[in-house]
Amino acid sequence: QHTPTPRDNFLRENNGRHQIHPMTHPLIIENRPPRIIVKGEGSYVTDIDGKTYVDGVGGLWNVNVGHNRPEVKAAITAQMEEISYYSSFAGTVTPPSIELSAKIMEMTADEDMARVLFSANGSDAVETALKLSRQYWKLEGEPERTGFISLKQGYHGIQFGGTSVNGSTLYRSAYGPLLPGCYQVDSPWTYRNPYSEDPEELAEAVITQIDRLIQHQGAHTIAAFIAEPVQGAGGIIVPPASFWPRLRQVLDKYGILLISDEVVTGFGRTGAMFGARGWGVKPDIMCFAKGITAGYIPLGATVINERVFAAWQKGIDPTGFIMHGYTATGHALGCAAANATLKIVEDEDLPGNAGRMGQRLMEGLKDIPNWSSLVGEVRGKGLMVGLDLVADKDTREPIDPGKGQGEMVATFARDEGVIVRPAGPVIIISPPLTLSEKETDKIVDALIKALRRYE
Ligand code: PLP
Repeated sequence: QHTPTPRDNFLRENNGRHQIHPMTHPLIIENRPPRIIVKGEGSYVTDIDGKTYVDGVGGLWNVNVGHNRPEVKAAITAQMEEISYYSSFAGTVTPPSIELSAKIMEMTADEDMARVLFSANGSDAVETALKLSRQYWKLEGEPERTGFISLKQGYHGIQFGGTSVNGSTLYRSAYGPLLPGCYQVDSPWTYRNPYSEDPEELAEAVITQIDRLIQHQGAHTIAAFIAEPVQGAGGIIVPPASFWPRLRQVLDKYGILLISDEVVTGFGRTGAMFGARGWGVKPDIMCFAKGITAGYIPLGATVINERVFAAWQKGIDPTGFIMHGYTATGHALGCAAANATLKIVEDEDLPGNAGRMGQRLMEGLKDIPNWSSLVGEVRGKGLMVGLDLVADKDTREPIDPGKGQGEMVATFARDEGVIVRPAGPVIIISPPLTLSEKETDKIVDALIKALRRYE
């Protein structure tokens, strides 16, 4: 419940007037100010008008343990009682980052991970991964290996490196010139591709494209391949099961590093602890953020494996200094939040629950394309689910997001008490991983009612 206060009037008057919101035009926000969310509890959030919703977005696919968890709050406040921040630059460190680094090494032992560098966001984690992979090759005596390959529809955050490897021109076009030597190949996307409806044939077609690109550019110019185990912001694209194992093989053929961007998929969202582990693949570098602290405090982490770390173990040389890191590296509150969050993720087997509730969600939604004129496909893995909205079901041409159909469905769903996120032509569902059966069914019910109303 939200008790109205005099502050509410100030909030309503100033909302959307001074702040630039991500991924929108400032004038749009001014005319359509965002909903003010004032409270959260478990899988629910409450807005300033006192209306409560199931949080089908999970904050921004990060509040994996649910809102307002006493354990996470207690860990943060206990750390605040000691010290909120001290630098990792001054030959100093605070206890939570030591604990978190050990925990991450324990959790990624199967991936042979060796070291972690902390930051504040997913975009930082990606930037760190790209920079460390270039430095790795310099240390290995192959300084020409500076290029990166990524997938179309991929999303890797908003810094210049991440923007350069993003797989949608939407994120790139306003900000060039970007990094040279970045190449995007087709996404292994069964619903929309020019190759094959057969998943395995499709995977092979994309692998062949990657192989040819590497041969054409020269393996000696490529540092790393970066991808999300399940593409998120680009529209919830689940690759065929053979894609990641074959990707690992083709990269190994040329010695190219594999960076798994686990900012969304890390710590359980796909039903496995890590997205790449779900595909049976060991990356060289993993990027974490979001779910690592369930959003309670921002934190990013970039983890490198034994192979990558070996380049730094040859001895101390000026070229091996890691001239990279953030004021927020090892932030005591972020790391305290992460320690408490990861304990919940393990104790409550949130990957297991994400797998089960994801199946229930897909089961509940799967019939929609049979009657909805708008939904072409429902797809997902674990608690990353997308409804692909089409202008034409036969050609699978996506809707024009500018026409607002996705927003309309999301508004109707909100009227039914569930928040979902229209992202371009896809409605994304990414609730907390603690979601119950009842809450899962409520999301299904609200979406069905919203889409029926749209008809
Ligand atoms: N990588 C992936 C796969 C993401 O989905 C995101 C954000 O959604 C990022 C990186 C960037 O993370 P942040 O917004 O925390 O900088």
